[in-house]
Amino acid sequence: MRKPLVMGNWKLNGSKPMALDLVTGLTKHLANIEGCDVAIAPPVVYLDYVQKLLADSNIILGAQNVDTHLSGAYTGDISADMLKEVGATHIIIGHSERRTYHKECDKFIAEKFAILKESGLVPVLCIGETEAENEAGQTEAVCAKQIDAVIDLLGVKAFNNTVIAYEPVWAIGTGKSATPAQAQAVHKFIRDHLAKLDASVAQQVIIQYGGSVNDKNAAELFTQPDIDGALVGGASLKADAFAAIVKAA
Ligand code: PEP
Repeated sequence: MRKPLVMGNWKLNGSKPMALDLVTGLTKHLANIEGCDVAIAPPVVYLDYVQKLLADSNIILGAQNVDTHLSGAYTGDISADMLKEVGATHIIIGHSERRTYHKECDKFIAEKFAILKESGLVPVLCIGETEAENEAGQTEAVCAKQIDAVIDLLGVKAFNNTVIAYEPVWAIGTGKSATPAQAQAVHKFIRDHLAKLDASVAQQVIIQYGGSVNDKNAAELFTQPDIDGALVGGASLKADAFAAIVKAA
């Protein structure tokens, strides 16, 4: 039995007053949540602050990125051990915004996956096709290729205790979510793809859906058997909406 995970990706948004407001709202709304894990990933400069705000809560602290190195001359980068030291455990990698704006490729993202595993952190690997790839019928091939980069480097067992977020790029921040049936079909494909190599890894891996999830469409998405929660961008910045998504899971 998989426990769903709803994770908020704050992206490049926030300030200390905003973080205080949002976390106060979330801890109030989500005090007695059972049956669903909840995580938030603020910008890295606020991690320490948010970690202290979350001290008495079971909300998990996450981060939005990591470098492939643990230390050295890599100006501006943040290591897995640094994230771990400030209490972050679930780290988003491969988000389409990093693939697009920072030209991150599958091999580089697989190296990030590797360093997170080595440091005992949980990778949240984002995968998904663009609109053009979707229209060309390449959704499954793109998802398989993005997953296979990790399998090629580390083997399928590396997916034990990890999270995959299926995020069709055309649905991120557009208000145009995949339908529950569309998302389920891709989630099942992803699980079957892993199962061809290792059935037990495939059964336990958490596969979140991401792309314009909100308090209106979440419940129906979560009825699907292979959708194990959500990675939420825009709606994670409002305590009421994010709490409603968590409750729907
Ligand atoms: C995301 O950033 O991962 C995301 C899914 O954003 P949104 O929910 O705003 O589409």
